[in-house]
Amino acid sequence: MYFYKNEFVHKNDIHISPDDRGYYFGDGIYEVFRVYQGELYEASAHMQRLERTASEVRIQLPYTSDEIIVILNKLIQQNELIEGTVYLQITRGEAPRAHPFPIQAKPILLAYCSEVKRPLATIQNGIKAITEPDIRWLRCDLKTLNLLPNVLAKQAALDAGVQEVVLHRDGTVTECSASNIMIIKDAILYTHPANHLILHGITRAVVLRLAHALGIPVKDVAFTTEQLLQADEAFITGTTVEITPLIQIDGQAIGSGTPGPLTAKLQTEFERTFLK
Ligand code: PMP
Repeated sequence: MYFYKNEFVHKNDIHISPDDRGYYFGDGIYEVFRVYQGELYEASAHMQRLERTASEVRIQLPYTSDEIIVILNKLIQQNELIEGTVYLQITRGEAPRAHPFPIQAKPILLAYCSEVKRPLATIQNGIKAITEPDIRWLRCDLKTLNLLPNVLAKQAALDAGVQEVVLHRDGTVTECSASNIMIIKDAILYTHPANHLILHGITRAVVLRLAHALGIPVKDVAFTTEQLLQADEAFITGTTVEITPLIQIDGQAIGSGTPGPLTAKLQTEFERTFLK
Protein backbone atom coordinates (compact mmCIF):
# COMPACT_ATOMS: atom_id res chain seq x y z
CA MET A 1 0.00 0.00 0.00
CA TYR A 2 1.00 3.58 -0.70
CA PHE A 3 -0.29 6.86 0.71
CA TYR A 4 -1.14 9.47 -1.93
CA LYS A 5 -3.01 12.74 -1.50
CA ASN A 6 -5.36 11.84 1.33
CA GLU A 7 -5.67 8.07 1.21
CA PHE A 8 -4.05 4.69 1.40
CA VAL A 9 -4.08 3.24 -2.10
CA HIS A 10 -2.50 0.52 -4.19
CA LYS A 11 0.42 1.69 -6.30
CA ASN A 12 -1.47 0.93 -9.52
CA ASP A 13 -4.32 3.22 -8.46
CA ILE A 14 -2.06 6.28 -8.15
CA HIS A 15 -2.38 8.70 -11.05
CA ILE A 16 0.23 11.46 -11.04
CA SER A 17 -0.75 14.56 -12.93
CA PRO A 18 1.66 16.09 -15.48
CA ASP A 19 0.69 19.35 -13.70
CA ASP A 20 2.42 18.23 -10.49
CA ARG A 21 5.16 20.84 -9.90
CA GLY A 22 7.32 18.13 -8.37
CA TYR A 23 7.28 16.43 -11.75
CA TYR A 24 8.29 19.32 -14.01
CA PHE A 25 10.13 21.71 -11.63
CA GLY A 26 11.39 19.33 -8.95
CA ASP A 27 9.37 21.69 -6.73
CA GLY A 28 9.10 19.51 -3.67
CA ILE A 29 10.80 18.14 -0.60
CA TYR A 30 11.37 14.66 0.81
CA GLU A 31 12.66 12.48 3.60
CA VAL A 32 13.89 8.90 3.74
CA PHE A 33 13.34 7.15 7.06
CA ARG A 34 14.94 3.88 8.20
CA VAL A 35 12.74 1.18 9.65
CA TYR A 36 14.38 -1.24 12.06
CA GLN A 37 12.33 -4.01 13.66
CA GLY A 38 9.13 -2.46 12.39
CA GLU A 39 9.83 0.95 13.92
CA LEU A 40 10.77 4.33 12.44
CA TYR A 41 14.32 5.27 13.44
CA GLU A 42 14.92 8.86 14.65
CA ALA A 43 11.43 9.85 13.51
CA SER A 44 11.33 13.19 15.30
CA ALA A 45 14.73 14.27 13.89
CA HIS A 46 13.48 13.51 10.37
CA MET A 47 10.26 15.43 11.01
CA GLN A 48 12.18 18.43 12.32
CA ARG A 49 14.34 18.46 9.19
CA LEU A 50 11.23 18.11 6.99
CA GLU A 51 9.55 21.02 8.79
CA ARG A 52 12.64 23.18 8.41
CA THR A 53 12.99 22.41 4.69
CA ALA A 54 9.26 23.01 4.14
CA SER A 55 9.44 26.36 5.86
CA GLU A 56 12.59 27.45 3.95
CA VAL A 57 11.07 26.61 0.55
CA ARG A 58 7.66 27.89 1.66
CA ILE A 59 5.67 24.70 1.18
CA GLN A 60 2.82 24.30 3.68
CA LEU A 61 2.85 20.77 5.08
CA PRO A 62 -0.59 19.21 4.47
CA TYR A 63 -0.54 17.52 7.90
CA THR A 64 1.03 18.10 11.27
CA SER A 65 4.18 16.15 12.13
CA ASP A 66 2.21 13.93 14.49
CA GLU A 67 -0.35 13.18 11.76
CA ILE A 68 2.45 12.34 9.30
CA ILE A 69 4.03 9.93 11.79
CA VAL A 70 0.63 8.22 12.21
CA ILE A 71 0.34 7.84 8.42
CA LEU A 72 3.86 6.41 8.15
CA ASN A 73 3.28 3.96 10.99
CA LYS A 74 0.05 2.78 9.33
CA LEU A 75 2.00 2.21 6.11
CA ILE A 76 4.56 0.15 8.01
CA GLN A 77 1.79 -1.94 9.59
CA GLN A 78 -0.21 -2.40 6.40
CA ASN A 79 2.89 -3.48 4.51
CA GLU A 80 4.13 -5.60 7.45
CA LEU A 81 7.52 -3.94 7.05
CA ILE A 82 10.17 -5.12 9.48
CA GLU A 83 13.37 -3.81 7.90
CA GLY A 84 13.44 -1.19 5.20
CA THR A 85 12.83 2.44 4.38
CA VAL A 86 9.92 4.84 4.14
CA TYR A 87 10.01 7.47 1.41
CA LEU A 88 8.00 10.63 2.01
CA GLN A 89 7.63 13.39 -0.57
CA ILE A 90 5.61 16.58 -0.59
CA THR A 91 5.31 18.66 -3.74
CA ARG A 92 3.91 22.17 -4.01
CA GLY A 93 0.87 20.80 -5.84
CA GLU A 94 -0.75 20.70 -9.25
CA ALA A 95 -0.95 23.73 -11.55
CA PRO A 96 -0.18 24.51 -15.19
CA ARG A 97 3.53 25.13 -15.66
CA ALA A 98 4.49 28.64 -14.53
CA HIS A 99 7.24 29.69 -12.12
CA PRO A 100 5.25 31.73 -9.53
CA PHE A 101 3.76 29.85 -6.59
CA PRO A 102 0.30 28.69 -7.72
CA ILE A 103 -2.53 30.34 -5.77
CA GLN A 104 -4.97 27.46 -5.74
CA ALA A 105 -2.69 24.41 -5.62
CA LYS A 106 -2.55 22.25 -2.51
CA PRO A 107 0.65 20.42 -1.50
CA ILE A 108 0.58 16.70 -2.31
CA LEU A 109 1.96 14.02 -0.02
CA LEU A 110 3.24 10.70 -1.31
CA ALA A 111 4.61 8.04 1.00
CA TYR A 112 5.52 4.40 0.64
CA CYS A 113 7.70 1.71 2.22
CA SER A 114 10.34 -0.50 0.66
CA GLU A 115 11.94 -3.61 2.03
CA VAL A 116 15.65 -2.80 2.20
CA LYS A 117 18.19 -4.94 3.99
CA ARG A 118 21.11 -3.40 5.84
CA PRO A 119 24.15 -3.34 3.48
CA LEU A 120 26.15 -5.59 5.80
CA ALA A 121 28.88 -6.54 3.32
CA THR A 122 29.90 -2.95 2.57
CA ILE A 123 29.43 -1.90 6.21
CA GLN A 124 31.99 -4.57 7.09
CA ASN A 125 34.40 -4.38 4.16
CA GLY A 126 34.12 -0.73 3.16
CA ILE A 127 33.79 0.88 -0.25
CA LYS A 128 35.93 2.77 -2.75
CA ALA A 129 35.23 6.27 -4.02
CA ILE A 130 36.40 8.91 -6.45
CA THR A 131 36.44 12.69 -5.91
CA GLU A 132 34.37 15.04 -8.05
CA PRO A 133 33.63 18.77 -7.94
CA ASP A 134 30.46 19.60 -6.00
CA ILE A 135 28.37 21.37 -8.66
CA ARG A 136 25.22 21.72 -6.54
CA TRP A 137 23.46 24.92 -5.48
CA LEU A 138 24.20 26.74 -2.19
CA ARG A 139 21.28 25.32 -0.17
CA CYS A 140 22.40 21.71 0.15
CA ASP A 141 21.02 21.83 3.71
CA LEU A 142 17.51 21.62 2.24
CA LYS A 143 16.21 18.18 1.34
CA THR A 144 14.58 19.06 -1.97
CA LEU A 145 13.76 16.94 -5.00
CA ASN A 146 16.34 18.51 -7.33
CA LEU A 147 18.84 15.67 -7.27
CA LEU A 148 20.26 15.74 -10.79
CA PRO A 149 23.80 16.70 -9.64
CA ASN A 150 23.69 13.87 -7.09
CA VAL A 151 22.49 11.43 -9.77
CA LEU A 152 25.29 12.50 -12.14
CA ALA A 153 27.88 12.23 -9.37
CA LYS A 154 26.77 8.73 -8.34
CA GLN A 155 26.80 7.56 -11.95
CA ALA A 156 30.31 8.98 -12.44
CA ALA A 157 31.42 6.80 -9.51
CA LEU A 158 29.77 3.69 -10.95
CA ASP A 159 31.25 4.43 -14.38
CA ALA A 160 34.68 4.63 -12.71
CA GLY A 161 34.10 1.20 -11.17
CA VAL A 162 33.69 2.42 -7.56
CA GLN A 163 30.65 2.76 -5.31
CA GLU A 164 30.65 6.39 -4.17
CA VAL A 165 31.76 9.90 -4.97
CA VAL A 166 33.29 12.38 -2.54
CA LEU A 167 32.23 15.91 -3.48
CA HIS A 168 34.46 18.93 -2.98
CA ARG A 169 34.28 22.68 -3.57
CA ASP A 170 37.69 23.95 -4.69
CA GLY A 171 39.35 21.10 -2.83
CA THR A 172 37.27 21.36 0.36
CA VAL A 173 35.32 18.15 0.94
CA THR A 174 31.59 18.68 1.52
CA GLU A 175 29.78 15.33 1.47
CA CYS A 176 28.93 12.42 -0.84
CA SER A 177 26.15 11.81 -3.37
CA ALA A 178 23.71 10.62 -0.70
CA SER A 179 25.68 10.58 2.54
CA ASN A 180 27.88 12.67 4.81
CA ILE A 181 31.60 11.99 5.23
CA MET A 182 33.88 11.96 8.25
CA ILE A 183 37.60 11.32 8.69
CA ILE A 184 39.73 10.37 11.66
CA LYS A 185 43.23 11.80 11.97
CA ASP A 186 45.36 11.34 15.08
CA ALA A 187 42.28 10.00 16.92
CA ILE A 188 40.25 13.17 16.22
CA LEU A 189 37.06 12.99 14.18
CA TYR A 190 36.56 15.71 11.54
CA THR A 191 33.41 16.47 9.57
CA HIS A 192 32.13 19.43 7.56
CA PRO A 193 30.17 21.89 9.72
CA ALA A 194 26.39 21.67 9.40
CA ASN A 195 25.96 24.77 7.26
CA HIS A 196 24.27 25.42 3.90
CA LEU A 197 26.83 23.34 1.94
CA ILE A 198 25.81 19.92 3.28
CA LEU A 199 22.68 18.06 4.25
CA HIS A 200 22.42 17.92 8.03
CA GLY A 201 22.30 14.16 8.12
CA ILE A 202 20.35 12.40 10.83
CA THR A 203 22.98 9.65 10.91
CA ARG A 204 25.73 12.30 11.07
CA ALA A 205 24.10 13.71 14.21
CA VAL A 206 23.74 10.26 15.81
CA VAL A 207 27.40 9.44 15.06
CA LEU A 208 28.60 12.75 16.54
CA ARG A 209 26.61 12.00 19.71
CA LEU A 210 28.17 8.53 19.88
CA ALA A 211 31.67 9.95 19.34
CA HIS A 212 31.14 12.36 22.26
CA ALA A 213 29.90 9.49 24.43
CA LEU A 214 32.97 7.40 23.51
CA GLY A 215 35.29 10.27 24.31
CA ILE A 216 36.43 10.70 20.69
CA PRO A 217 37.22 14.40 20.16
CA VAL A 218 35.07 15.88 17.39
CA LYS A 219 35.91 18.89 15.24
CA ASP A 220 33.22 20.05 12.86
CA VAL A 221 35.87 21.61 10.69
CA ALA A 222 36.00 21.04 6.94
CA PHE A 223 38.94 19.11 5.48
CA THR A 224 40.52 19.04 2.01
CA THR A 225 40.74 16.17 -0.47
CA GLU A 226 44.45 16.12 0.40
CA GLN A 227 43.69 15.65 4.11
CA LEU A 228 41.15 12.98 3.23
CA LEU A 229 43.83 10.99 1.41
CA GLN A 230 46.12 11.33 4.43
CA ALA A 231 43.45 10.40 6.97
CA ASP A 232 43.91 7.41 9.26
CA GLU A 233 40.28 6.38 8.70
CA ALA A 234 37.33 7.65 6.68
CA PHE A 235 33.67 6.69 6.51
CA ILE A 236 30.35 7.87 5.18
CA THR A 237 27.11 8.13 7.14
CA GLY A 238 23.53 7.93 5.95
CA THR A 239 20.13 6.45 6.62
CA THR A 240 20.65 3.44 4.36
CA VAL A 241 24.46 3.14 4.42
CA GLU A 242 24.64 3.66 8.24
CA ILE A 243 28.42 3.92 8.87
CA THR A 244 30.24 2.58 5.81
CA PRO A 245 34.04 2.70 5.78
CA LEU A 246 35.85 4.34 2.86
CA ILE A 247 38.94 2.28 2.12
CA GLN A 248 40.21 3.84 -1.10
CA ILE A 249 39.83 7.24 -2.80
CA ASP A 250 40.96 7.95 -6.35
CA GLY A 251 42.90 4.68 -6.33
CA GLN A 252 44.78 5.53 -3.10
CA ALA A 253 44.34 3.53 0.09
CA ILE A 254 42.99 5.36 3.15
CA GLY A 255 45.06 4.42 6.21
CA SER A 256 45.77 0.70 6.02
CA GLY A 257 43.25 0.27 3.17
CA THR A 258 40.89 -1.61 5.47
CA PRO A 259 38.15 -0.34 7.84
CA GLY A 260 39.75 1.38 10.83
CA PRO A 261 39.40 0.64 14.57
CA LEU A 262 37.54 3.82 15.58
CA THR A 263 35.16 3.35 12.65
CA ALA A 264 34.46 -0.18 13.92
CA LYS A 265 33.87 1.14 17.44
CA LEU A 266 31.37 3.69 16.18
CA GLN A 267 29.66 1.01 14.07
CA THR A 268 29.21 -1.20 17.14
CA GLU A 269 27.76 1.69 19.15
CA PHE A 270 25.54 2.68 16.23
CA GLU A 271 24.01 -0.81 16.08
CA ARG A 272 23.19 -0.55 19.76
CA THR A 273 20.98 2.47 19.04
CA PHE A 274 18.46 0.29 17.17
CA LEU A 275 19.15 -3.38 17.97
CA LYS A 276 17.04 -4.67 20.83
N1 PMP B 1 23.88 14.04 2.28
C1 PMP B 1 23.07 13.83 1.23
C2 PMP B 1 23.29 14.62 -0.01
C3 PMP B 1 22.04 12.88 1.31
O1 PMP B 1 21.22 12.68 0.27
C4 PMP B 1 21.89 12.11 2.49
C5 PMP B 1 20.83 11.05 2.58
N2 PMP B 1 19.61 11.58 2.99
C6 PMP B 1 22.77 12.36 3.57
C7 PMP B 1 23.75 13.34 3.42
C8 PMP B 1 22.67 11.61 4.85
O2 PMP B 1 21.56 12.03 5.61
P1 PMP B 1 20.79 11.04 6.57
O3 PMP B 1 21.79 10.55 7.57
O4 PMP B 1 19.76 11.89 7.18
O5 PMP B 1 20.25 9.94 5.73
